[in-house]
Amino acid sequence: MIARDVAPPPRDRTLGPAGVPQVAFVDSTRCIGCTLCVAACPVDAIIGAPKRLHGVLAELCSGCELCVPPCPVDCIVMRAAERDWTAEDVRAARARYDARLARRVRAASHAAAPGETARRRAQAIATALDRARARRAATR
Ligand code: SF4
Ligand code: SF4
Repeated sequence: MIARDVAPPPRDRTLGPAGVPQVAFVDSTRCIGCTLCVAACPVDAIIGAPKRLHGVLAELCSGCELCVPPCPVDCIVMRAAERDWTAEDVRAARARYDARLARRVRAASHAAAPGETARRRAQAIATALDRARARRAATR
């Protein structure tokens, strides 16, 4: 659980001025649709399907850059957002982050243990074999 009522620490001014808000951009000519950026984005701002071009929903992107390092073909670049990141953007990003976290927890709790997966696969094969034998017997 993440504390929501903790005041943010003061900005460390030794790091220089605050940067310009940025958004990620996918170079469509190079994206291979590996989905690694989708897995990395904490606020579900990237859409796409396996082996298809991925794209960033600029209005949802917080500019965190977490999607940049996992991209195996370096086709994600950061660009100036050309708008401010508002308090409403923060609230919406937190809501999407919480929803994503809840989804992942649900998925983990439903995931079968490796032994259970193997047992189910063996059961499915046995059932399919039984059906095939029954069909063959019926046609004799
Ligand atoms: S910069 Fe951050 S918020 Fe934007 S698409 Fe990449 S991972 Fe998502
Ligand atoms: S990580 Fe890079 S190559 Fe993979 S889907 Fe995302 S943008 Fe495309």
